[in-house]
Amino acid sequence: MANEAPAGDLRLVDLTKRFGIFTAVDDLTLTVPQGSFFALLGASGCGKTTTLRMIAGLEEPTSGQVLLGDRDISRLRPYKRPVNTVFQSYALFPHLDIAENVAFGLRRRGIRKVDGQVRQMLSLVQLDGFGRRRPAQLSGGQQQRVALARALINHPQVLLLDEPLGALDLKLRRQMQIELKRIQTEVGITFVHVTHDQEEAMTMADTVAVMNAGRIEQLGAPAELYEYPATAFVANFLGQSNLLAAEAAGPAGPEVPVTAHGARFSVPVDRARVDRGPVYLGVRPEKLHLAEAADEVPAGHQHVPGVITDASYVGVSTQYLVRTGWGSELSAFAANSGVGRQHPVGTSVVAHWDPRHAFLLPREPGQD
Ligand code: ATP
Repeated sequence: MANEAPAGDLRLVDLTKRFGIFTAVDDLTLTVPQGSFFALLGASGCGKTTTLRMIAGLEEPTSGQVLLGDRDISRLRPYKRPVNTVFQSYALFPHLDIAENVAFGLRRRGIRKVDGQVRQMLSLVQLDGFGRRRPAQLSGGQQQRVALARALINHPQVLLLDEPLGALDLKLRRQMQIELKRIQTEVGITFVHVTHDQEEAMTMADTVAVMNAGRIEQLGAPAELYEYPATAFVANFLGQSNLLAAEAAGPAGPEVPVTAHGARFSVPVDRARVDRGPVYLGVRPEKLHLAEAADEVPAGHQHVPGVITDASYVGVSTQYLVRTGWGSELSAFAANSGVGRQHPVGTSVVAHWDPRHAFLLPREPGQD
């Protein structure tokens, strides 16, 4: 398993997996740069685990290739691949102590002097001094760290993580997300992390691939996906979005004018994924502001009148629902910074936004 040769990028080329007539992974092509933290994000059943299993060699592709650098590893047996996997179930050996669990991969290769490396790995995952304990004497989070140390001691070129934090409670998950990112930066190994938790993917990964029905909907840096989603699916999967069904008539100068429910808006050309025909005009809730009257709306902002139908105080912000005159419900998050007024349910407001924060997405004709 130890591979000292430079790994190179991990590339999936036209990778497809069919189970009978069902296509679980559909012609996937993507590159994971060497040394990066990559997340495959998607809802249950979208094909994330199947993709990971094909990289690990646990599932044979129906067609396509898995390449590591210049090397085609598609047909290699799992143990011949310079790849290790950490699963949600830690799968530690209960009868071995922590040090022997971590040393397992080295022992299997006939390496006898393991103490130094085991100590180093336990230190990396911040479990110094835990070597003589048994798995049952550790918390879930600590056991997950052992599983990580046990994988990393093999110096894989790629580490696959299949929902590794899924069994942990929320607070521990958040701590482990930061830990995992630190460890990845320290070891510099390519991490491919599968999760259905968008916050988890965005917290840790350099690049996130959003999967839907066996395909990649969009791939990019977390901020890019959030600020400028490519499809309505991505806009809704990553955070919340206000998506207004609208019609675009092509660019006019630096802007794309659109009409929604008889009202006219515009979006800068470079924020438009599509500039003609049926579109969604999108605004994130934290970019939608509320004023009490139209004359309070800043110059250059676009606006729609509405009535507050719900106001939920959630500590750092208040989350409002605003019903527009044509019956749509818009979400607006207002930071509770001590400045600005609260808007009680039933009051009339003007929802407004800076068009530079809006985006235009493709919409199927007839979709709302
Ligand atoms: P989850 O988050 O629930 O694990 P996932 O995105 O990882 O979901 P996969 O486990 O890759 O999804 O499964 C993708 C699809 O392929 C699912 O519809 C699943 O039922 C199907 N599938 C997976 N393995 C098999 C199999 N061995 N035989 C038949 N269908 C399978």
